[in-house]
Formats: sequence, structure tokens, C-alpha cells
Amino acid sequence: MNMDVIVSLSKRRGFIFQSSEIYGGTGSCWDYGPFGVELKNNIKRVWWRDFVQRRPDMVGLDASILMHPTVWKASGHIDNFTDPMVDCRECKRRFRADQVDERPWLHYCEAAKGNKFEIPAGETCQRCGARRTLCPECGKGELTAPRQFNLMFKTFMGPVEEDASVTYLRPETAQGIFVNFDNVLQATRRKLPFGIAQIGKAFRNEITPGNFIFRSREFEQMEIEYFVNPHDTVDGRPADEHAHDRWIEACRAWFEEYGLAPDHMRLHEHAGDELAHYAKRTVDILYQFPMGWSELMGIANRTDFDLKQHAKFSGKSLTWFDEDRKEQVVPYVIEPSAGVDRAFLAFLLDAYQEEEVRGEKRVVLRLHRELAPIKIAVLPLLKKRGEIVARGHALRDLLARRWTTVYDDTAAIGRLYRRQDEVGTPYCVTVDVKTVGDADKSEAGDGKVTIRERDAMEQLRVPMEALDGVFARLLDEGRAWGDIARDFPRAER
Ligand code: ATP
Repeated sequence: MNMDVIVSLSKRRGFIFQSSEIYGGTGSCWDYGPFGVELKNNIKRVWWRDFVQRRPDMVGLDASILMHPTVWKASGHIDNFTDPMVDCRECKRRFRADQVDERPWLHYCEAAKGNKFEIPAGETCQRCGARRTLCPECGKGELTAPRQFNLMFKTFMGPVEEDASVTYLRPETAQGIFVNFDNVLQATRRKLPFGIAQIGKAFRNEITPGNFIFRSREFEQMEIEYFVNPHDTVDGRPADEHAHDRWIEACRAWFEEYGLAPDHMRLHEHAGDELAHYAKRTVDILYQFPMGWSELMGIANRTDFDLKQHAKFSGKSLTWFDEDRKEQVVPYVIEPSAGVDRAFLAFLLDAYQEEEVRGEKRVVLRLHRELAPIKIAVLPLLKKRGEIVARGHALRDLLARRWTTVYDDTAAIGRLYRRQDEVGTPYCVTVDVKTVGDADKSEAGDGKVTIRERDAMEQLRVPMEALDGVFARLLDEGRAWGDIARDFPRAER
């Protein structure tokens, strides 16, 4: 898959726009348009339902973005949340030192009269054999030695801009959960193991944002902190290790259930030198993005590091009392941490298909029904016929009470179908002359409409009064199209 295709579809159909585009854009932040906000909300809603509401061992939280600055001291972000950065002395562009070799580079080749060439990432010049030493973008400037650059956005809390009022936009949602551990415990009387989930914005002043919404400076995370008693064992293994494996599989299976092909995902085990100093083990789920295998989410065993740090800095005890062993325990934490925007991008990439239908190109987003921005589109076959239009509007109003439904009569039917295919709408309902009849010819309508399914493009003729029940089966109960097709006659295309 080519990223440009997805970027252009996103802009054209209103999934994603560049932030502040009329001012030239920021290049590092993105706005979700009418279809984008629906898809994004659906991803978050389904994640919350599956991982919080349906599980007996999970609760939710919505902590504030601005927190006490000591949170970031205790968590280690002030001292360690840095990336090595290099600057070009000529064009002043900045790069992450560890990623500079992963970019194509510009080369003025002496062996070819100083002509300019773009050389693929990591390769040497085929003419003179040179390796990249200068700035990859301008090809002229020397790069400075790497310096550590803190990724947190600083701001001031309150009316006085002084050192004492410095705080940060959170770079992850996780810390809001740790500092509320005791509040949640007291309020809910939970026993270990249990988890707290949160969805919210996070901000990182990334040195080199890019690859569309894959790496931006403002993004959303869906995070879980799952607290486990490290003294327990499950199936003869430490409970934290057992829970870690369960979460890795649960997360992988979740992405598969909602549309990612299993062979487009891969697990990556962090090697010793890659592992954060507090982590016992970390596994990333990688997805095959157009720029290569890259992190979709991470699942870390953060041990008792965070709770101990916050206990130390706050002076408050952050423990759980184990009634059986009569002892205070600092739980171990398993942290599944997913980016909403990266999930969005992966679902979009996996859903995108181009195919040929009757000699014409059809672009279709085979999004999972639960994720599709629009569930039903009501389309009139003839917009000149007042009864057809009126019936179409009435049906939209009826269906929109339960499912996201649109009405569209701005083109001929073939084009209307294509437009819905392109944004992933699973079902179209078409009102035609037969539905409403023809008063001039004294013909009564049959009161039936055509439902068309996106993927197979099969069409059924269904009485209007049955629509509510049909869509309840398809969209609420998740029944297969084949189940419905058994009950109604096919409509001619
Ligand atoms: P990377 O190595 O790609 O910078 P990370 O390991 O720093 O990611 P985590 O701190 O583990 O990322 O954050 C958890 C998740 O949040 C990531 O798996 C990703 O889905 C998402 N995420 C992190 N940084 C960004 C970003 N700049 N833009 C979009 N999503 C992000």
C-alpha cells in the first residue's frame, strides 16, 4: 500500500485534514474531518466496550492533561524522556540522530561533476561510493554532535510565567492512572488483579514527525494499567508474566477482529538494550505500514516502578493489602498502550481495496461494520420524483435514531454507490419508483426498498417495515449478510 493513496483519499473524502491548512499547515498535527471523527470515535468506543465495559476486572478513568509537575519528575520524564537530536549547520533542519540513516539523502557527487542525486536510505552512492555524512535534506551542511532533547511540551499554569509555575502537557496518559491508583482502589474496593483504562490526548514534541498520522506531536492513546500481585502464581508462573502474555494475545486478537490481516502484524520482543530501565519485558505489536514494519502498540511489564516512584515523591502509600497473606503489596503493572491514530491508519490501510467492476475501477474500504463511519446510506433512484425523495428522507430519519445514517441525492445512483463504497458504508438503501408507485398510472407502490451490501454488492428487496429488524440483526447482533439474504428475494442490479 502506498501512503499517498491513503493521504489523498483522507483529504478528498473528509477523513483527515492537515491542521491549520489555510495557513500552510503545521506538518505535525492533523484534524479529523466528518468521516474521520466517526471512524476515530468508533475505534475508541469499541476498544472501551471490549476492554473496559465487557470485562469484570476493568474500570475507566479520565484524568486531566495538565498535572502537578512533580508527576513528571517522579515518572522520570523530566530527566529521561529525551531523544538524541542533531542539527544541520547549513539549513538548520533537525533530525533524530538514531533515525537519520533511515532517510533517503541528497548527494552532490564529485564523480558526476557535482550533480545532485537522491540516494535511498542507508545506501552508498553508486558513482563514487560515498556514504552519507552531511545533512540528508540539503546535502551540504555538517551535522552537529547528538544532543539530548526533551520531548515534553512545557507550559505555565496560572497567570505568572515563572519557573515555579512550569508544567507540561502529558506525553502519555499512563501517569494519570498511577497517581489515581489509590483513589480508584478506595472508591471501587477492587482486588488484584484489576486494571484501569484511559483514552485521551498526549503530546510529544517529536523531532521528526511524519508518515502522516503515524507520528504527530498531538495524538491520542488508549492505555491500560493492569495491576497484578507479584507474589501470586498462575499455572506455575509468576502472575505478572502470565497476565502479560494474556494481554499481548488479547490486543493482537482485538486488532484482528476489527480488520487487520494476521500476516500484516508481527510481535517484536524488546532485546535487553532496547528495554526501558524499569521494564521487565516489553513486546510491541508491529504493523506492516507503507514505510515498513513499525510499532502499532506496545505491551510492557513495568513492574512496581511507577507506583514506587509516586509513593516516594508524594509520601503517600500506594499499596494494596493482601488479606490472605496479611501484607501490603506494591502491585506489578502490565501496560497495553495503543495509539488511536496509528490504529486508525492501520485499519484504513488494511481496509483499502481497488477492484474492477464491470470495466470500471471501484475503490472500497472494507472496514469492519462496527468501525465504518456511516452504517447506512439512503439513496433515491430518481430525485425528480417528490414521493421518492420524501420517502428517502423519512427512512433516513427513522434509521438515524439507531444507526449513523445519511441521505444523498447529489448524483446518479451508480456514483452514489461508489461514494459510499469509498468511505466504507456497509449498507445502502435505495428507494425507487416501485417503492412508492405511480399515481399518474394508478399504480400502487409495493412498499419495498433495495438494500445493497458493500462487499459482495448483492442486493435484496425488503419491505420498509422490516428495515429496523434487518439492521438490528446486521448491526447490533453482528449477524452475517448471508443470514438476511435467506429471508428476502434478491433484487436485480
Ligand atoms: P515510537 O518508538 O514509535 O516513538 P514509543 O515506543 O515512544 O513509539 P510509546 O511511548 O510506547 O511509543 O507509546 C504508546 C503508543 O502511543 C505507541 O505504540 C503509538 O501507538 C502511540 N504513539 C506514540 N508516539 C506517537 C506519536 N508521536 N504519534 C502518534 N502516536 C504515537
